[in-house]
Amino acid sequence: MTFADLGLSPDLLKAVEEAGYTEPTAIQREAIPPVLMMKDIIGIAQTGTGKTASFVLPMIDIMAHGRRRAMMPRSLILEPTRELAAQVAENFEKYGKNHDLKMALLIGGVQMGDQVKALNEGVDVLIATPGRLMDLFERGKILLNGCELLVIDEADRMLDMGFIPDIEFICDKLPETRQTMLFSATMPPPIEKLAKKFLNNPKRIEV
Ligand code: AMP
Repeated sequence: MTFADLGLSPDLLKAVEEAGYTEPTAIQREAIPPVLMMKDIIGIAQTGTGKTASFVLPMIDIMAHGRRRAMMPRSLILEPTRELAAQVAENFEKYGKNHDLKMALLIGGVQMGDQVKALNEGVDVLIATPGRLMDLFERGKILLNGCELLVIDEADRMLDMGFIPDIEFICDKLPETRQTMLFSATMPPPIEKLAKKFLNNPKRIEV
C-alpha cells in the first residue's frame, strides 16, 4: 500500500515525498482513511510508530477549506507536555508548507501576549497543553465552540499528569458534532471511560 491509496490530496502526497517517506506505517494505513471520512478513532499506538503523521496529514486535508475567525480555532490538538506540543507543531510546518493554514502553539512558560495575538488573528490548528488552554479560556481569550476537530494525544500520559478533569472540561466546550481522535499507548479504565463519554462510535485501531 502507498500513501496515494489512503485518499490524501496531491499537495500532501508531495509533502510526504519531500519528507522522504516511501510507505505509510501501520497506524497511518489504518487511521488516515477513516479520519478523512470524518470518523472518530481511537489509536492505540506508541511514539515512534508514525502516529503524529497519522493525524496531522488528514487534518491538513480536512482543514484546507474553510474560514478562520478571531478567537475561534477550527481544530485543536491537546498534548501533555510542551515538548510534545512543539514536536507536533514542527510536523505541521513540515507537512503543511504547501497549505495556507495558520497554526498556533499554546504552551506554558511562554508569554501570553503573542498567543492572544495569534488567536485574535484566527487559527486553523491550535496545538495546546491543557493548563495554558484552560488559563486562556478562563480569561475569555478563546472560544471553543467553532472547533470541529479534536485530537487528544498521549491520553495515558495525560492521565498520569492529572489532566483528565481539564480534558473533560475542554471537551464539554467543543461542539458535540465535532470529530474526535484519541491516541494512547495503553487504554487504562479511566481512558476507556473518557473515550466512551466523548467519542462517537469510534473505530478502534491497535498497532
Ligand atoms: P512519531 O511516532 O509520530 O513520533 O514518528 C516517529 C518518526 O517516524 C518521526 O521521526 C517521523 O518523521 C517518522 N515517520 C513518520 N511516518 C513515517 C513513514 N511513513 N516512513 C518513514 N518515517 C516516518
